[in-house]
Amino acid sequence: MANLSIDLAAEVHLLKERLSMNIVDESYHPQSFGDALVTLSGPLGSIRLVRERGQIFLDIGTGSKWTDANVVLEAANLHPAVGAPLDGKQLVPVVCSNFQQIRKYLDQTYGKESQKLPRDTMPEFDYVRHDFSKGWPTGREFLYRCLICGDLIPSFEAGQCTCGNIHVAIGGIRGAKDPSKVWLAKKSSPETL
Ligand SMILES: [Zn+2]
Repeated sequence: MANLSIDLAAEVHLLKERLSMNIVDESYHPQSFGDALVTLSGPLGSIRLVRERGQIFLDIGTGSKWTDANVVLEAANLHPAVGAPLDGKQLVPVVCSNFQQIRKYLDQTYGKESQKLPRDTMPEFDYVRHDFSKGWPTGREFLYRCLICGDLIPSFEAGQCTCGNIHVAIGGIRGAKDPSKVWLAKKSSPETL
């Protein structure tokens, strides 16, 4: 098990393609049953994939909180099998196909507030596609995200990701075996909470 955006690459890809969403937050706790979550947000709303003890769940941002997509679909009369909850993977295509109606339901039920990202997951990083042949940005606000192993490596201290793709050496030599498998992560400006 690894980061959810890697384990669920196909589902994340679908959410990006169909709903124009981007990853705004991700966490992974290998020591705690491999629990993990990935949060995506886009112009139509926010979605969170959660793995708890090997099970996958999908939540939809409904105003100030997250609600299980099964609950939202049932409430909006869009669930394909009422009374038989789908798991997170099964829910992704259903949610993608129905998101216009889901959006309508959320606006009617929760108002404009429901378009915002729930407060408990303010994005920690902005992920940026960067052409590393033009140089490796460094500084406290920059980290490198390996898309192979999922590690997040600080740009300002010596280190290497688990799979060995990214190297950061003291003295400033930074590089990757496959730079196309690296994203630049920039710490989001601190929000006023
Ligand atoms: Zn790696």
